[in-house]
Amino acid sequence: MKLELKNSLSLKLLRVVLLSALAVGVILSCAQIVFDAYKTRQAVTNDAQRILGMFRDPSTQAVYSLDREMGMQVIEGLFQHDSVRVAAIGHPNEPMLAEKARDLAQLPTRWLTDPILGQEQHFTTKLMGRGPYSEYYGDLSITLDTALYGESFVTSSVVIFIAGVLRALAMGLVLYLVYHWLLTKPLSKIIEHLSQINPDRPSAHKLPMLKGNEKNELGLWINTANQLLSSIERNTHLRREAESSLLRMAQYDFLTGLPNRQQLQQQLDQILDDAGRLQRRVAVLCVGLDDFKSINEQFSYQTGDQLLLALSDRLRSHSGRLGALARLGGDQFALVQADIEQPYEAAELAQSVLDSLEQPFILDQQEVRLRATIGITLFPEDGDSTEKLLQKAEQTMTLAKSRSRNRYQFYIASVDSEMRRRRELEKDLREALALNQFYLVYQPQIDYRDHHVVGVEALLRWQHPEHGLVPPDLFIPLAEQNGTIIAIGEWILDQACRQLREWHDQGFSELRMAVNLSTVQLHHVELPRVVNNLMQIYRLPPRSLELEVTETGLMEDITTAAQHLLSLRRSGALIAIDDFGTGYSSLSYLKSLPLDKIKIDKSFVMDLLQDDDDATIVRAIIQLGKSLGMQVIAEGVETAEQEAYIMAQGCNEGQGYFYSKPLPARELMLYLKQARRLSAGVTNPVTL
Ligand code: C2E
Ligand code: MG
Ligand code: MG
Repeated sequence: MKLELKNSLSLKLLRVVLLSALAVGVILSCAQIVFDAYKTRQAVTNDAQRILGMFRDPSTQAVYSLDREMGMQVIEGLFQHDSVRVAAIGHPNEPMLAEKARDLAQLPTRWLTDPILGQEQHFTTKLMGRGPYSEYYGDLSITLDTALYGESFVTSSVVIFIAGVLRALAMGLVLYLVYHWLLTKPLSKIIEHLSQINPDRPSAHKLPMLKGNEKNELGLWINTANQLLSSIERNTHLRREAESSLLRMAQYDFLTGLPNRQQLQQQLDQILDDAGRLQRRVAVLCVGLDDFKSINEQFSYQTGDQLLLALSDRLRSHSGRLGALARLGGDQFALVQADIEQPYEAAELAQSVLDSLEQPFILDQQEVRLRATIGITLFPEDGDSTEKLLQKAEQTMTLAKSRSRNRYQFYIASVDSEMRRRRELEKDLREALALNQFYLVYQPQIDYRDHHVVGVEALLRWQHPEHGLVPPDLFIPLAEQNGTIIAIGEWILDQACRQLREWHDQGFSELRMAVNLSTVQLHHVELPRVVNNLMQIYRLPPRSLELEVTETGLMEDITTAAQHLLSLRRSGALIAIDDFGTGYSSLSYLKSLPLDKIKIDKSFVMDLLQDDDDATIVRAIIQLGKSLGMQVIAEGVETAEQEAYIMAQGCNEGQGYFYSKPLPARELMLYLKQARRLSAGVTNPVTL
């Protein structure tokens, strides 16, 4: 705050000091003047007595001898004194012997002094003879004009007044300066320092001691203020600590240090906000311990607490995948998985939480096993608010507990059974290879120049003991996720190469084998070596093996993909890009990739006669292939009309149900033989 000058203490002081000094000066001067007036009156009387005394003898003589001339001389003598106005000598009962008078003096100060001293004053002295008879002869009387006395009185009064006032003012000024120097100035310095103090850290800026004031009230004031500031800071610090620990207590679980329900709600609100904006999925997992009560009863509450602590540590170990982790109370915990794409990710997390509990806890050298049941809700499917998601997750968990334990369950039954199926499949998938549940089928590929079967595409089939045939679109992504695709992929390659060798040996030596590669496989460093080895082992001629890679797989990491494709090509394999048109390939990248063939995705081929857009796309792809010097094959050719259209556009090859469904090896052999026989006879659709 800025101090206004008119409010300054110094100015106020200056005013007060000057006014009171002035008043004192005036009062003192007035007293002096009154005293002076009194003294002046006295001086008039004294002068009169002195004058009378001086002229008494000659006057007596003049009266005694009735000498009028002498009397007049005396009178003249008396008039030498300026203030004598009237003088007379004579007996009261007789005519005056001598007398004289003059006018009152005309002085400008008269109006002031006459009321104080009187206009004039009258004095008489008796004239007596000498000797034993002391006879009375008459009187000598004078009248003094007070004006002259008054004039000097006024002059000295003015001097007294002015001097008095000036002295008082000078004193006042000195007093003010002293006060200013001693008090106001140091005070403004203190104010300046005080204004620099940061209220959050009051003792960071201490008030400096003012030199020369160490021991007086100011010094004492500064010290006391500094002490006060320090204790304020100490108190604030303590208060803040108390507040933050209160906040912690309000937001975190006392035992495990994990956020509590309240804090979780805040975090989840935020996560849902973000997910809503980015259109992402969120999973809320409510983990409830099975039979925790009996553990508390069987051991002790302390052991129970220790167990909860150890459990929260295990839960924390998943925190890399978690958006939030909290203890909901008692034996319930919540895990929030932000930013997931598919429900199975939540299922995986739930399973890994359950798996992490498999390991027993060691407490007081005792093994304790914990099991838990997990309820899962998904945003946005199961609810759009924190409350709903949490509530439903808890309900689901309770429900799941009532059925069986040590499991997870999704809120929506369909998601739940789907997840369960996926999970089971994934588990079974790990053993499928060892249990010989896989086999390959082969779908012929037709060259449109002469309608010959030029190749086959190997397609994987999984014969599940319970679920029967599982479609590859379902289990291949699972195999990619759990990594089994590498082993499965090698098996496919081996199987396909061996089969091709067999067919070559059986006389179909021109036949080509197309094998699908998963993205995971493509980025596996061993792949080129594996392919190379297989081609050597089975003595496959170059260009007899074609590897199909998908657009999306290539585009993820274009430079690595290009390198891998190059080394695959060096082994003699051809590279085809599968499902072309469904991804987002950039045409410029396409040019930089070592590709031999483009496979038009079946979705375009199927509708090409009904949908103009699809027809345009198919034409464009064929044109693109031609201009890049690549072969073009159409997938999913089901009718003669489709075939006619793509052939007219200049498509090189075709594949689809119109020629044959994917067939097991033996049936394909028959198909090939039949085609060869037909070509030997009539020229029919398919020949070899
Ligand atoms: P893809 O490589 O594009 O295979 C073509 C799919 O189209 C095959 O389905 C095939 O049976 C189907 N198909 C062929 N002709 C027609 C037709 O005229 N009409 C219709 N509607 N469909 C036709 P499939 O065998 O179910 O395979 C699906 C996908 O699974 C494959 O698509 C491929 O991406 C993947 N896949 C299959 N086998 C393997 C494999 O051995 N390894 C890898 N990594 N992926 C495989
Ligand atoms: Mg394919
Ligand atoms: Mg395809």
